[in-house]
Amino acid sequence: MSHCPDFESRFFEASASAFRQRDSRTIDLWARDNIELGTWSPWPGKISFDHTPWLIPPLRWLSSPTCHRITCVAAAAGGKSTVGEVFAAHCIAEQPGFFCWFAQTEAAAKEFAESRINQVLNNCEKVKRLLPRDWRKVRSNGILFDHMTFLVLPANISSAQSKHIRYMVCDEPWLYAPGMLMQLHKRTTKFAHNRKILELSTGSVAGDETDQAYQGGSRRDWQFKCPECGHLHVPFFSPERLDAPGGVRWAAECKKDSGVYDFDMVRKTVFYECPNCRAQFKPTEENQHKLNSGGRYTGPDEIFEHESCHWSALVSDFRLLGDFAVEFLQAKAALKRGSTELLQEFTQKRLAEAWDSSRIDAEPIRLVESTYDLGDPWPEAELRIMTVDVQKHHLWALIRDWKEGPESRLVWAGKIMTWDELRNKQVEHGIEDRFVFVDSSHFTELVYGQCCRFDWNAIKGEKAQSGFTVDIDGMQYRVPVAAANAKGTPAQLPADAPFTACELFRVSEEMTAESLHLFRTGRANGWTVPRNPPAEYLEQMSARVRRSRQHKLTGQTVWEWVTIGKAGEHLWDCERYQLAAAFLANILEGKKLEPKQHDTTG
Ligand SMILES: [Zn+2]
Repeated sequence: MSHCPDFESRFFEASASAFRQRDSRTIDLWARDNIELGTWSPWPGKISFDHTPWLIPPLRWLSSPTCHRITCVAAAAGGKSTVGEVFAAHCIAEQPGFFCWFAQTEAAAKEFAESRINQVLNNCEKVKRLLPRDWRKVRSNGILFDHMTFLVLPANISSAQSKHIRYMVCDEPWLYAPGMLMQLHKRTTKFAHNRKILELSTGSVAGDETDQAYQGGSRRDWQFKCPECGHLHVPFFSPERLDAPGGVRWAAECKKDSGVYDFDMVRKTVFYECPNCRAQFKPTEENQHKLNSGGRYTGPDEIFEHESCHWSALVSDFRLLGDFAVEFLQAKAALKRGSTELLQEFTQKRLAEAWDSSRIDAEPIRLVESTYDLGDPWPEAELRIMTVDVQKHHLWALIRDWKEGPESRLVWAGKIMTWDELRNKQVEHGIEDRFVFVDSSHFTELVYGQCCRFDWNAIKGEKAQSGFTVDIDGMQYRVPVAAANAKGTPAQLPADAPFTACELFRVSEEMTAESLHLFRTGRANGWTVPRNPPAEYLEQMSARVRRSRQHKLTGQTVWEWVTIGKAGEHLWDCERYQLAAAFLANILEGKKLEPKQHDTTG
C-alpha cells in the first residue's frame, strides 16, 4: 500500500489546525509574546531580542517557507541554542511535525533534555497546554505530544536510521563522527518541500562537514554599527597589519620588558577600536548594546534556501573583552611552548572560526640548532624516554631527555635490527620500562607481544584532528594522547612474556605533528637538536611538510601532512611519540580547562 510521501506532516498539520488558529507572524515576533526565559538567562522574563539582535535574522529565515537549512556558527555561550529552543517551541505550538534535536553524545542529549529544553517548553504557555496528560509520555529523550513527537537524541548510527524527520536541529555537529551530518540529513528527504534543518556550532575544523555547511550557505557575518560614525563592519580581534587601525587593544605598558604580560593591566585597559573613526569602546554592557543596535548581517536582504551566519564572542559577550584578550595572550604564549591547543580553543570558541592549523605554518623548514653535541652529559635531565617506530625488517628508535619547562635534548636516534637489541639499547641508556613507547599501528600482534615481554607501552596513531576530549571531574580537556578503552592483549603470548597485556595509548597524529612542527622551526622554545645529529635524523625530520590540495568533490582547500624525498619519516614519528609521552609525563602542557556549560541567551 502506498501513501502520500508527506502523509505524516499533512496529517499532523490537519489535526493541529482543527483546534487552533495558526499564528502566521515570524518566529521572533511570535516569541516576544509567547516565550518566557527563566533564571538561567541573563535577561529573565518575556524574551526580547533588544540585547541580542543577531538572533532575529536566523529566526526569520526559519520562518520563511523557501529556506530549508540554516547554519549558525557562533561563539560558545553566544545565544545560538536559544535560536533552536525558540524554534522548537514555535514548531510544537504552531507548525507541528516530527522534530529531532541531535546532540553529540548520549550524555549531552540527556543533559540538554533535562536541563534546558524542558525548561523552555514549560515556560511557553502555548506549549504547556499541549503537553500530554499521561506523564509516561514525557521521557528523558523527548516528549510524545498527542499531535507530534519531539525527541532529543545522540547523533549516532541508530539515530540516523530513525524515521522521517521534518524538523532537525544539529547541535555542535563538528563533534559528530565524520559523515554523520550527511546521514542525518537523509532522514529529512521525505519532507524536502517543507523541512527545516538548523545547525548550531562553534567554530569547527577547516574543511570538515560543518565548515563545508557554512561555506555552502550564504556566509553572512554579523556587523557592528559604530555609534560614533555609523560605520558598519564585521568586528575583529586584531588587524591584519600591526599598524592598521581597529580591533581589540590594550595599553602598551601591559607588556613588561621581560616580554611577559601584566594580565590585570590588560583587563583594566582593554578597549575596542572602530577601524573607521578610531572611537574607543570600553567593554561594558552599555557599549555591547550600542555597537549591536543598528548592526546587521552582511549580504543581501533576500532569503536563500541555505542561509549560514556567523557571530564571534565580540558580538555576544563584548563585556568580557578583557577575559578574551588575556585568553588570546595566553594562547600565544602557549604556542611559544609548542602547544597549539589554547589557540585552537580561542579560535573555535571565541572567534567562532574554523581552526586552520596551516595558518601557523608559513615559513620553510630550518631545524633549530643548539650548543651541545650528541652524547654530552646533561645533569639537569629529569626523565628519559625511548620511542620506537616498527618496520617489517627493522626498528627505528629515538631517545630524548626531558625536564620541566619544557626543555629537551636528543640523546640517540637510529636504526635497530632486533627486539633484543632494542632491549639492550634501553638498558644501556638506563631507561625505565614505563618510559618506552612502541608504535603498534602496523604490526599490532607482534608489538603487543614484545610489550608484554618487557612491560613497555604500545601506542597507535590516529588522525584525530583536534585530539581527544576527556572528561575529568566535570571539566573537559582536549589532549593529544589518551588511554585506549582496552589494554593491548596479544592473541598469542611470547613464551618468555611475564605479562598478559600492555598499556595502550592513542596518539593524535595531527596534534603531535603541529606541536613538533612548532618545535623544529624554533617557534616553540626548549626542544633542541644537537649540533651533530645523525644524517638520517636530519633527512627524516625535514621529510614531513604540510601541503594544500583541492578536495575532489567539494573544491575546498584541504591541508595535509605529506612525506617528501626518499628518506622516510620514521624518526619524525618517533619524535611525535616523544611529545605524546612527555605530555603523559606532565612535562608538556596541552590541556585547556573548559567548564561544561550550555549556551545561554545573550
Ligand atoms: Zn566609528
